[in-house]
This record gives sequence, C-alpha cells and structure tokens, in this order.
Amino acid sequence: MKEQPAFLPMTMEEAERLGIDRFDIILISGDAYVDHPSFGTALLGRVLWDVGYSVGVIAQPDWRSNDDLRRLGEPRLFFSVSSGNVDSMVNAFTPNLKRRSSDVYSPGGKLLRPDRATLVYTDRIHALYPKTPVVIGGIEASLRRFAHYDYWSDSVRQAILADAPADLLVFGMGERQVVAIADRLAAGEPVGALTDIPGTAYRMDLKTWRSMDQAGYVVLPGYAEVKEDRYAYARAFALHYNEQDPIRGRPVAQPHQKTVVIQNPPAMPLSGEELDRIYELPYARRAHPSYTEPIPALEPVRFSVVSHRGCFGSCSFCALTHHQGRIIQSRSIDSIVREVERMARMPEFTGVVQDVGGPTANMYGIHCGRWETAGTCPDRRCIDCPALDRSHEEQLRLLRRLAEIPGVKRVFIASGIRYDLIPPDEEYLAEVCEHHVSGHLKVAPEHVAKRVTAAMGKPPREAFDAFRERFEALQAGKKKRQYLVPYLMSGHPGCRMENMVELAEYVRDTGLYTEQVQDFTPTPMSISTTIYHTGLDPFTLKEVYVPKGREKRVQRALMHYRDPANHALVCEGLRAAGREDLIGSAWNCLVPARGKGGRPTRAGPNPRQTRRPPR
Ligand code: SF4
Repeated sequence: MKEQPAFLPMTMEEAERLGIDRFDIILISGDAYVDHPSFGTALLGRVLWDVGYSVGVIAQPDWRSNDDLRRLGEPRLFFSVSSGNVDSMVNAFTPNLKRRSSDVYSPGGKLLRPDRATLVYTDRIHALYPKTPVVIGGIEASLRRFAHYDYWSDSVRQAILADAPADLLVFGMGERQVVAIADRLAAGEPVGALTDIPGTAYRMDLKTWRSMDQAGYVVLPGYAEVKEDRYAYARAFALHYNEQDPIRGRPVAQPHQKTVVIQNPPAMPLSGEELDRIYELPYARRAHPSYTEPIPALEPVRFSVVSHRGCFGSCSFCALTHHQGRIIQSRSIDSIVREVERMARMPEFTGVVQDVGGPTANMYGIHCGRWETAGTCPDRRCIDCPALDRSHEEQLRLLRRLAEIPGVKRVFIASGIRYDLIPPDEEYLAEVCEHHVSGHLKVAPEHVAKRVTAAMGKPPREAFDAFRERFEALQAGKKKRQYLVPYLMSGHPGCRMENMVELAEYVRDTGLYTEQVQDFTPTPMSISTTIYHTGLDPFTLKEVYVPKGREKRVQRALMHYRDPANHALVCEGLRAAGREDLIGSAWNCLVPARGKGGRPTRAGPNPRQTRRPPR
C-alpha cells in the first residue's frame, strides 16, 4: 500500500507539503470532503492514491466564479466530476417539489450545490481546461446515463453524456473504472480511445455509428422516439435493465440527435479481497480539518461499516440494480474486524458500531453458484429463487466476532433487513433482536395491498404477517419488549385510493401507526419511475394506474390520519374510495366528522366509542 496522507489535499499548500506540484487527478464533488468510505470522493481518491496517483479534491466549488475550480491547477491526467453521494435534484427538492432549506452533505447544512451539479461543474471545468479529459461519475451521472424521465422538469431528458461536455461516464461503484482510466491515460492513450472499459459509457458521432457493424450491440429506441412515445420509452427501459449484468450484459447504444451514447457492460464485481483492501484504507472518518462547521451526514455513519455491496431484492422503486447490481460482494470477517478495531481506537468512539450492513443488511455472505460464471438470470428474481443459499450463519459469525472486540459495547444493524429472506429455522432473528437493534426494529413492507406490493416488487402482506408473528413470539416473556417500525410508501404506481385506505386500516388494526411514510418520488432509472412516466409495466407493456398531483397528497395524508391538519384530505380520500363509513365516531373510524369551522361534531369523537369492540 502506498503511504497515504491524513487527508487528501484540498489546497496547493497541502499538496506542496506532500511534495506535489501538479496532481495526476482532481476530484470535483458537490459534497463536502468527508474522509469516510461512505463518501465517494474519499473512497475513489484513496483507491487512486493506493495505486500510486496523486489526487486533489475540490469540494463544493462556487460555480459562479472560476477561483475554486482553478485552485488546484490543471491535472496531469483528468478531472473527475460528481454531484456527490445523491442526485443533486433529489437532494435539493422534497417529493412535493418544494426546495429543501438545508443540505446534509454541506458544512452547517448550507446550500452550496447547484441544481444539476454534474452538468454545471462539467461545463465550467471544460470551459476552463478544454484539453484536459473530464470523467463524470457518481449516482447522478450513473442513473442518468440513458435518456430518462426527469421528475423535476416533468420531461424526458437526453442521456447526460449528450448534454455534458465530458469524455467518459463511469457508472456503478467506480473503483475498477477510475484506475483503468488513469492507467491508460498515464500510458499515453488518448481519452477518445478508451471505449472498451467495462462500467463506462461514452459518446460516438452519428456518422461513425451508422457506418460501423452494429452486431453485438443492443440498440435502444433513440431519444427522439422515447421522448414522444411512452411505449418506446418502456421498451428501452426493459432492454437496458436486462443488460445490467457484468457477465452476460452486452453493450447498449442509444442514438440521440447529435450523438450516440454507448454503455459498455457493467464492471466485474470486486472480489472479497479487493473490497477488504479498499475498505481498510486509512480513512480519517472525519471531515477535512478546513471545515469549521459539522457536516450533518457524517454523524449517522461515522462509526458504521460496509460489509457488502449489491442487492438482489429487485424493489421496483430502487435503482440499485443499475448501480451496484444484483450480485452480492461480501468482505471477509477478518477485514471487518480489523476496521472496527481501528475505529475503536479513535477518541470519539463511544463503543457503538452504528451499522454493519449494505444496501440490505441480511444479504451479507449470501451467494448463488451461477453468479461468477454465468451472471444473474435475466428472467428470474433471485429473492424468490430456490437455488439461492439463504443461510445467515456467516452474518451471525460476523456479528459475534464484532461484539467481542475490546471497546465495543453494542453492534447495531441500521441498514434495512429483508424479512422474507430470513430462514425460519435459524436463530438470526432472535439474535438480531436481542443484541443488534435498539427498542425498535425497522422493516420495510412498504404496503399491504396485493396489487401495490406486486407493482413494488415487495413480498405480499402474508409474508409480513408471518414475520410479525415470529417477531411477536420473540417478545413473549420479555421485561422490555421491542417494537416493529414499518416503513410505508404512498403514491406508488399501481396504488389506488382504496389501496391506501386498506393500508390505513391495516395500520389501525395492527397498531403499526408510523411516521415513517414516504411519498413515492420518481427518481431516475427505477422501474417505478418508468411506470410513473409511461403508465406501463416496462416488461409486459400492460397499463398500470398511476396516482399523480393532488391524489398523491391525499394518499400520503391517509397514512397520517391522526394528524388533525390532514383531516380534510383524509375525508377527501375516504369519500373518493367510497369509505365514508370510516368518518365518524365508531371504533373503526380513521377520523372524526367535523361540523362548521372544522370542529368535531357533537356526535364524536367519543373516546369510549373509538375503541375496537371486544371480539
Ligand atoms: S439461479 Fe436464482 S439466485 Fe442464482 S442468479 Fe438465477 S435467479 Fe438469482
């Protein structure tokens, strides 16, 4: 391992102290620079440093002047541009399209990032240094790599490479790609020759595209077509979705007005040893010392550990299949133990490991024999597949080892747990409840209505009921019981008003009333967003009902029916669903009736009448 600095340099003074007068690579990010492996800049910067490149960081540059972008000069190899850990539009707006008042990835929560940050930074840096290659990456670039529906402008936008003056786009997690790009540029190849790196996308001019042999490429309907024709959009989505596999995936091309955007197959997943090395690099787990205010996003993850990558859950509203992929890549137990031992020596460590997980905590160590040789099946879901080895034994071994580390008092699992994956005959659930969650276990059924769970790709209500029974059985005889906190979603494609009422009644009857309700946001490149935009299931092209506008507000209000501020919206929803019987003072009513001035009518609510009658 090449010796690494305490922090990646953000100024030329820091660079000079390290003996650097010109950086090999400069990373520009919309996030503050936090030296923690959960932040992409730190992760990629340290990986590049590890293989011998000098890397400087420009975090949250002021894009209205050139000073910040010129601060580190021109790099020898390339600029890398990212909006940060989150798409800049998702970060800037609520699901209701109201602008947020703070940014958790900035010091003091200040608003320091432009909308469409990748485009803005790339435009500026290209104008300043037109001869230096620019590589874009991160979640914003990754999930906008084909023509896509953009909720914030309510339009279909071009692939980001057709808009941004960048040379290459890195999608997915990026370590293999950035090292390959650096190595080949350092060896003297022009950036235009780098068209074969897995996990990258590039542009080709239309003339070359038309004159070449296109056999072997999956050609999507072009931008002009998907912009106008919802069937073409849905078909294009299904085509590129099915190619997101590093082994069986083929190159995918999408013609635009002036260019063709070509995505190479995804990068090969990292091996366990490679992941171990990356996560054991000497991250400071602190923000760069130049910051005088805390960065809110750091505290919840400062002492958390990534145990694996990938998720085969295939939830429709999540775009992880297009980013990390379905193949699970797990670190070794020894490596995670070493990382926690290092954390435990930090003065700020209080003995609590905040999280051990990945996109889904209990996929650690799970494996399918097909993944290395044939990739994932294009026509089946791993989560339902009998071929999958679902044993949670390796996770238990990991958690037990971590709990034994001197200085560690508690090891929590804060990442989501996929409850339908937990084998019934293992002690995993008992042990997790006993030692690894606080008083509340968070789970994400998201909905209970059959047509909605099917549209979401979530397990049906029966699976959640069975899990609740197992969980409740574990509480028997406990002095201090634990509670389930369900994450629920309103406004998802496929969800009609009567389905939301069904969910509200379920919440009422099970006592699972929760604040954890998310209004569906159509973020780029998910199956659900495709349905939201087209009204079609992209794989069957069948029509799907899509709630929009005021109906989404009403659906969300139904989940918080106890909030008096929602009374009018809840009544509106109940009337729309033909369920006025749930307005009033009977035991099963969700809201009281109201008279003039919005006050409850004399008839209700009567607390004695609002109880369910004895069975
Ligand atoms: S065999 Fe089953 S678990 Fe393996 S890749 Fe195919 S669907 Fe997934």
